Amino acid sequence: MDKEERAFYERLEGKGVSRRDFMKFCTFLTATMGLSSSFVPKVAEVFAQPAQRPPVIWLHLGECTGCSEALIRSMYPWIDQLVLDVLDVAYHETIMAAAGHQAEEALHNAVEKYKGKFICVVEGAIATKFNGGYGKVGGKSFLQIAKDICPKAAGVICIGQCSSYGNIQAAKPNPGGYKGVGEALGIKTVNIAGCPPNPINFVGTVVNYLLMGKLPALDDLGRPLFAYGQTIHDNCPRRGHFENQEFVTEFGSEEAALGYCLYKVGCRGPETYNNCPIAKFNDGASWPVQAGHPCIGCSQPDFWDKFTPFYQEL
Ligand code: SF4
Ligand code: SF4
Repeated sequence: MDKEERAFYERLEGKGVSRRDFMKFCTFLTATMGLSSSFVPKVAEVFAQPAQRPPVIWLHLGECTGCSEALIRSMYPWIDQLVLDVLDVAYHETIMAAAGHQAEEALHNAVEKYKGKFICVVEGAIATKFNGGYGKVGGKSFLQIAKDICPKAAGVICIGQCSSYGNIQAAKPNPGGYKGVGEALGIKTVNIAGCPPNPINFVGTVVNYLLMGKLPALDDLGRPLFAYGQTIHDNCPRRGHFENQEFVTEFGSEEAALGYCLYKVGCRGPETYNNCPIAKFNDGASWPVQAGHPCIGCSQPDFWDKFTPFYQEL
């Protein structure tokens, strides 16, 4: 183990995380990314020995910051680890100290410094009607900001449903003409869909980039296939194909653990592509259908218009 690696594991221990727990996380992440177990040591290396820290400029447009909140609550790596060790986050309004003119200057300088090399992560939808007048930062419309910055990036990752497809801002009647980034600018983006998306799918996308030197394979809606290749229904324990022994132990019996299928009360699991039943949320604690709530289809484009009223069978 070299000096850098040793320092990494010491930092982990300082945070109360054993090497064993870290390897458990890497095994989970590797499986989520659809890679064989032989990649686990390589995935661990991405965190323990970050050879390159890609510069990231993180834009906040029309959104609620829920995606950043979800990421801050990612089980591992913690946000400080992600920001300082794996990525070189040059601009992120929520976590940076600068404000006002200083923040504007920091953004301008970061874009100039890393032109053509940075990953642009976008959180939030773009108002396109009335010359983008429905949403501005520092006197510039979201549309102007995105048009100016996104083409200068090496790649654009849309985190969450708003930047991916417009989300509720784009729901009918959509007076501001809100759209996702790809549609508003006519560019190809990687879409980490969901409201909010599971942080593990963002982390998996970044690790894939660092490990393979390229972004992951995408479906025809721009979503990474490793996370959005199957429907919620495909992997739902309520289907009756009961495989999760942990569930049985927790609930006492297979029947109690399974519960009833929620299709009749509006579950959109059969129409929704996402890995919630496998990845789960909050350190693997649970996910909506496990907690007894039907899937409302939050990772599908236009789900507010197509899937409402939510509690009625389609
Ligand atoms: S609860 Fe939803 S996802 Fe699960 S089996 Fe029923 S319809 Fe499918
Ligand atoms: S279960 Fe459905 S609505 Fe809930 S987070 Fe997953 S995709 Fe979104």
